[in-house]
Amino acid sequence: MNIKENIESNRLNFWEKLYLPEIAKGMASTFKAMFEPKFTRSYPEEKMTPSPSFRGRPVLVLEEDGERCVACGLCSRVCPALAIEVQAAETDRDKERYPKLFEINMLRCIFCAYCEEVCPEEAIVMSKDYELVFTSQEDAILPKEKLLVPIEELQDRLEWLRQYK
Ligand code: SF4
Ligand code: SF4
Repeated sequence: MNIKENIESNRLNFWEKLYLPEIAKGMASTFKAMFEPKFTRSYPEEKMTPSPSFRGRPVLVLEEDGERCVACGLCSRVCPALAIEVQAAETDRDKERYPKLFEINMLRCIFCAYCEEVCPEEAIVMSKDYELVFTSQEDAILPKEKLLVPIEELQDRLEWLRQYK
């Protein structure tokens, strides 16, 4: 189709130039949709229950004797957004090393789950937490204390990982 034919085919006809039939068609479509099943949710009154495959904010697994993390730094290395900072220190526990400092900058995190994938200890996992609110840039840098989540609350994600990883 050349340019002239293209212009001709895009010309409005008489009824289209009036606009009223098109408005009526739009209104009819809206009216019909009012009686169709809803796919929206009245958040925050109606919360979503994510499935185990959901990628919420990354968290650290907390066991009875402390964090699982051995501060190997792999998650920090692999993070494409450079969102993770880990500083290791020695400990007298069986694991020998622990993260003296572990921070995730949630303004940088893109929820890619690479950190979870690379972790040799299953110590960092994607949680179901999707409600993230910060009032300043500093607030968005989550320290270890805010990242640690008891292992019981992460069981379904850990089981899902064992199945698919
Ligand atoms: S989910 Fe991705 S972007 Fe977020 S901390 Fe992990 S590796 Fe970095
Ligand atoms: S969370 Fe996993 S990958 Fe990251 S430093 Fe700890 S043990 Fe290593």
